[in-house]
Amino acid sequence: MTAPLSAGPAPGPGPDDLLVDPSTVEEARRELIPRYGAASWRITFASANPSVGTADLHWDTFPDALREQLRHAGWVLLKFPVPDHLLNGSTRMRGHLSALRNHHTLIHWRCFAHWLDRRGITELAQVSESVLGDYSIHLVKERRLHRNTVASILGGLTRLHAHAPLLPESARIRQPPWETEGVDDYLPAATPTGENASEAINPATMGPLLVWALRFVEMFATDILAADAQAARLRAATAAAASDQRSRAAVAAYLADLEARGLPLPAHNRTGTVWAAKTYIAAITGAPLGVVSYALRAPRWRQYLAENPGPCPLDVPITATVDGQKWIDGIDFHDVAGLVQHLDTAAFIVIAYLTGMRPSEVLGLQAGCCPDPPARQGGTRRHLIRARVFKTAYDEDGNHLSAGEIRCAPWVAVPQVVTAIRLREARVDATGLLFAGDPTNQRPGGRAASYATLSRRIEQFVAWVNTHHGEDAIPADPHGNIGTRRFRRTLAWHIARRPGGLVALAVQYGHLRTIISEGYAGRQREGIHDILDLETARAVAEHLSDVEESLADGGKVSGPAARRLILAAHEQHRRFGGMVLNQRQAKALLSDPALTVFHNPEAYLSCNYDPAQAQCNPENLASQRKRPTTPSLDRCRPSCANIARTDSDASQLRERAQHIRYQADTALTPEPIAERLRHHARELIEIADRHERTRLGDKEPS
Ligand code: SF4
Repeated sequence: MTAPLSAGPAPGPGPDDLLVDPSTVEEARRELIPRYGAASWRITFASANPSVGTADLHWDTFPDALREQLRHAGWVLLKFPVPDHLLNGSTRMRGHLSALRNHHTLIHWRCFAHWLDRRGITELAQVSESVLGDYSIHLVKERRLHRNTVASILGGLTRLHAHAPLLPESARIRQPPWETEGVDDYLPAATPTGENASEAINPATMGPLLVWALRFVEMFATDILAADAQAARLRAATAAAASDQRSRAAVAAYLADLEARGLPLPAHNRTGTVWAAKTYIAAITGAPLGVVSYALRAPRWRQYLAENPGPCPLDVPITATVDGQKWIDGIDFHDVAGLVQHLDTAAFIVIAYLTGMRPSEVLGLQAGCCPDPPARQGGTRRHLIRARVFKTAYDEDGNHLSAGEIRCAPWVAVPQVVTAIRLREARVDATGLLFAGDPTNQRPGGRAASYATLSRRIEQFVAWVNTHHGEDAIPADPHGNIGTRRFRRTLAWHIARRPGGLVALAVQYGHLRTIISEGYAGRQREGIHDILDLETARAVAEHLSDVEESLADGGKVSGPAARRLILAAHEQHRRFGGMVLNQRQAKALLSDPALTVFHNPEAYLSCNYDPAQAQCNPENLASQRKRPTTPSLDRCRPSCANIARTDSDASQLRERAQHIRYQADTALTPEPIAERLRHHARELIEIADRHERTRLGDKEPS
C-alpha cells in the first residue's frame, strides 16, 4: 500500500474514491477496500494474517469539529510511509504499521480528539507542545493508564506529527515534547514485572490441563473421530433418503416397537427443552427428516416423548481408558460436535504450550507445516515446524508484512505436538489453516479462529473435564481465565523453575529446555529464549536472595560448592537485590559464571553450575564448544562438584526420609519394596547428617 511521498500536502481523495489504489492490494481483498467518505472503514481490509479479525473505525464516533481533519490524517496514515529522515532518528518508528496497529493508532487519535473537543480545540493546528504535554499528564494522572498503553498513545501522536507535511496546515500538530526531551519523563514509572508480563498459569492448573489435553490428543482421539465419522454417515444417509411409503412405514414400525418394549424415545436437551432427535431417528430408520417430523407431530408420540426421553447412542466402541476405566461410557449423537471441539482445543493447548509459539503463530499454522524428517541412521529425528511469524515481519523498507514471513529458525516439535498437528491436518477446511475460524464468516485468504473463541473453548474444555471427571479435575487458576497468551510464559516459567516437575513428567521429557532450544542455535532471539532467559534469571535471583537471607539469619551451607554458593548469594544481593526486571539484567546475571546457581528442589540442592565439572552432561565435558549454558537438573548426579546444600535442603531431606519410612512401614507394602524404601531413607538421612557435620557459615573459612 506504500505510495510515493509528494513534496507537500497530499490533497484528500473524493468521498467515493477508494482509500488506496486497488493494484496495491491482493486481488482477493480488493472488494474490501473502503471508500474515503464511508461512515466506517474496515482497517484490516488488506491484512493477510489469518489471526487478525475485523477491526472497523466508525467516523460518527469522532467529534464533529475534528472528524474530517482526522479522516484526512487517517487516509495519510494508511497510504503513505513515515518520511525516511524520521525513520532514521531515535524514535524507532516503522514506515508502515500493521493493520491492527493502524487501528489502534486511529482509536488513540479519536480519544485525543474527544479530549481536545472538551477543551474547545477545533483544529489540529491549535495543538501546541504544551497541549500535548497536558495530554500526557491527563493519561498518567487522571486516566491512570499503564506505562505501555501511554507509550503506545504518545507514539500514535508522534506519528500524527510525522505525517504533518502531507496534511493541510490547519491539520498539523506541533512536535510532541517527548520527541525532544525523551519519552521516559512522560510515562508512568515502570512496574517491576513489566506491564505486558502475563501471569504464568499456576502449576496446579497447568499440570492437569496438559495431562487432559494429551489424553484427548493421544488417547481419546480415535474414539471421538470414529463417532464423528459415524454421525456424518448418519446425516448423509438421512439427506439421501426418499420420502415414500417404505420410509413412512419404517418410522411407524420403529416408534411402535419402542412403545411396545417400553424403550425411551431418542431425544436431546436444548436450552432446557427436550426435543425429539429427528435426525438420529431418521438416520436409523432410513427415512428423510420430513417423514420423521410429520410422524412425531402426533399427540401420541409427543406424550410418549415427554414421559420417555432417552439418549442417542452411537455404535462406536470406547477403546481409551483412564485409570483402567473407560474415559466415557458411550458417545451420544448430539455430543459428537462438542467432543470434536474439545479435541481441537486440546490440540491447540498441546501445540501452544509445548512449542512456546506465540498464539498468532499457532493460529497461522497450515497443513504441511511439520513434514516428517528424512530417516537418519542413529541419533534422534526431530520434527520441525515451519511457522509464519507476524509480529516481527517487516520488509526492507520497514513496512509491516501482514501475511507474515516464514521464520528463519523453525520450532521444534516433540512427538505429542506432531500428533496434535496430524490430527488437525487430517481435517482442515479449504483455508488450509489448522485452526480455521467459523466457515460462515470466512474472508479471502482464510481466517483463523479468534483469540476470544479459543479462550472460551479452553474454558469449555476445562468445564467438560471437571463435569465428567471431577475426581481428577483441573483446578481454577488464581489469576483467572487461562486464555491463549499465557502458555508461552508458562512454558518458560516451568522450564526455569520446575525442570523435572509435573509438566515435564506429563510429556516424559525432563530436559524440555534442551529439546525446545534445539532449533535455535545461533538465532536465539527468534524463539522462546528471551522469555526463557528472563524467567531463568528471575528464578536464580530469587533463590540466591533466599540463601542470602538465610545466611544473614545464621544459616549455613555444605557441599563441595558451599563457598561458591555463599559468594554468589552476596554478589547477587549486591548487584541485583533479588530482582531481575528486564532482559538486560537477565543477560548480565546469566553471563556471570559466579552467579549461575540453580535451585534443584527435587534433589534438595543448589547447583552452582560450572559446565566443566557438570556430571549431568558428561558427553559435553570433552568439548568446550558444546558445553550447555544451563545444567540438566533432571539428570543431576549426587557426586557432582557443583553441589551445595542449605539448612532448608537438609531439613527437607529429613522430612522426605520420614515420609519414605512411613510408606515402608505400612502393612500393605511388600517386604522387598519396604526394604528398598528404608535403604533410600537411610541414604537421605546420611546426606542430611553430612550437612550438619560439614556446614559452613558466612564468616567461616572454607
Ligand atoms: S550434576 Fe547436578 S549439580 Fe552437577 S551440574 Fe548437573 S545439575 Fe548441577
